[in-house]
Amino acid sequence: MKNIYFFGECMVELRAKNDDMLHQSFAGDIYNSAVYLKRCFNEVTTSVVTAIGKDSLSAQMLARFESEQLDTQYVFAHDEKVPGMYYIETDEHGERSFTYWRSDAAAKKVVSFLTPSVLDSLSKGDMFFFSGISLAIIDNDSREQFWQAIKQLKDAGVKIVFDPNYRARLWQSVEQTKAQYDIAFSLSDVTLPGVEDLTTLYDIHSVEAVVEYLKPYNIQEIIVKNGPESVITKEGEELQSHTIIPVTNVVDTTSAGDAFNGVYLGARLAGRSVSDAVQMAAKAAGTVIQQPGAIAPKDVFCQAMANA
Ligand code: ADP
Repeated sequence: MKNIYFFGECMVELRAKNDDMLHQSFAGDIYNSAVYLKRCFNEVTTSVVTAIGKDSLSAQMLARFESEQLDTQYVFAHDEKVPGMYYIETDEHGERSFTYWRSDAAAKKVVSFLTPSVLDSLSKGDMFFFSGISLAIIDNDSREQFWQAIKQLKDAGVKIVFDPNYRARLWQSVEQTKAQYDIAFSLSDVTLPGVEDLTTLYDIHSVEAVVEYLKPYNIQEIIVKNGPESVITKEGEELQSHTIIPVTNVVDTTSAGDAFNGVYLGARLAGRSVSDAVQMAAKAAGTVIQQPGAIAPKDVFCQAMANA
């Protein structure tokens, strides 16, 4: 059985239901990807690697992971910290804004749980995914330990997968981000950047420019996303352009890239070709953006995928 680890943060999500009621759920890029992967490829063991707390919201989060059939053996419980949280507000024009409480979240401490025995166990896996958000939220002073862990996993044959997923407000400076991304790209076997993510950082504006920028890193598999525009892939030396059918009824683009990543990686682990994997991933992302929120209802999502 194939397996994949999703390393990073899941948060408590709050949004207004009406004037005096909040709707509570759970979301975060790595969790979203894990959910969509598992819904499409039940045969792939899909683990979340994160830290939560010992509070009741953490218990609910853990229960949610389990209800989505995710493996929770690497979900660590911090003694004092609690999960991060964010609140989504939508104004009268439908514009959404986000307020975060995550600067002291348990997930920032996840690297401290990567003990030698945990790393030995993780070394038996097939793929390890982390994003620019995972990298941004971990404590500054744990980055060196994180890179050592990644090197150990890579040496053991685990494929390292990185999505730059750039969120400026999570970083101290562009220079800091670039230095960390440089290490991430140099250790990656697979990367799934979006053009937009790299525009601010490297003044890159096209899928072709992304591929060109990444050339010196010798990454085996590159998948460049560009919203409803085409997806370009580079597998070894083989470049391919894949047409995306634009969705006209876009409701909420939250987690389009996350759904794409999860389903793409699941398809690759299940032995599908790069182009089949892109088609499935694009279908999944196109379905998710027609539903509000990060996680589309399971029945709606699975029905759309079955029809594809
Ligand atoms: P991110 O969420 O990382 O910014 P993108 O906006 O590039 O990611 O979108 C990720 C994927 O979602 C795209 O590669 C595409 O497959 C799909 N997607 C995004 N927007 C649309 C759209 N309007 N119509 C169809 N598919 C879309």
